[in-house]
Amino acid sequence: MLLAMGTRLELEADRTIRSNDWWLTPSGEPRGAIRAHALDELWFHTGTACNLACPFCLEGSKPGDNRLQLLRFDDAMPYIDEALRLGVKRFSFTGGEPFVNKDIIRILDYALRHRSCLVLTNATEPLIKRLQQLKPLRDHSSELHFRISLDYADPVRHDAARGAGMFARALEGLRALHEMGFHVSVAHQKLSDMAQDAVAARFAEIFRSAGLPEQLTLIEFPELHPPHADVAVPQITGRCMADFHSEETRRSFMCSFSRMVVKSNGCTYVYACTLVDDDPDYILAQTLTEALQAPVSMKHHRCYSCFKYGASCSEVKRGVD
Ligand code: SF4
Repeated sequence: MLLAMGTRLELEADRTIRSNDWWLTPSGEPRGAIRAHALDELWFHTGTACNLACPFCLEGSKPGDNRLQLLRFDDAMPYIDEALRLGVKRFSFTGGEPFVNKDIIRILDYALRHRSCLVLTNATEPLIKRLQQLKPLRDHSSELHFRISLDYADPVRHDAARGAGMFARALEGLRALHEMGFHVSVAHQKLSDMAQDAVAARFAEIFRSAGLPEQLTLIEFPELHPPHADVAVPQITGRCMADFHSEETRRSFMCSFSRMVVKSNGCTYVYACTLVDDDPDYILAQTLTEALQAPVSMKHHRCYSCFKYGASCSEVKRGVD
């Protein structure tokens, strides 16, 4: 059963390594927490280096950035093997821009021998330069999926943050991947002033003019704020989780069925999820087996986006597979 709160024993054990803040709100109420029920999906953070420097980036990624280091093949392989022993169903990769990482093709080749993979990409120069290297990956029986960032169905607005011509370049990368036979989806920003149907209709028009299928899967993201941002959101207590969520909905939180591997300061660690990699409290362990045992507190401001909007980087629970 998923926990709405940690048990007393877990609370005591965890207090030896984490502050009270992990378990208690500022007013002293027990925080909501989630315990993993499975490892359906394992994410790898390939590093915060990116060819772009978008001011809103939720990873704070930019050229040469090494807040999270580039993950090497030798870093990733043991986690792939451990995840397979734990019954993982899919491997997913995020950055930074994963195709800046020179080991990405080798890592994907190894992962695809076992499971399908998803890569989040801005689909610009780093990906376009590696299109030839991606071709042999189609020979695996496991599928390779790509999710391309098109922030808005508006090239001017997209380019205002990403740089002139980046919308057209990303569309070119997206079309190339589609023509090569890869499954593609698109991530975009949630707009408070436009209904989801209207956003979808605008994207459909763009896809049609680019010679793509109109109904590509769209993944909408709420505002998640850059790393280390001080964002005031309501505290999520154990009572909130019991009152507003059921066991079924708690199972859709990414920290209930996935983990993420990152590299920093020369070491690899397992974080609770892909949405939180700027708070060391969310480093759960160095192995997946241990990381799956640790209940995850919902103290981070991004947890509120999961709680309120169902924010998730995963496609596993969206029926996209
Ligand atoms: S951000 Fe969401 S998935 Fe991550 S730890 Fe918080 S509630 Fe869980």
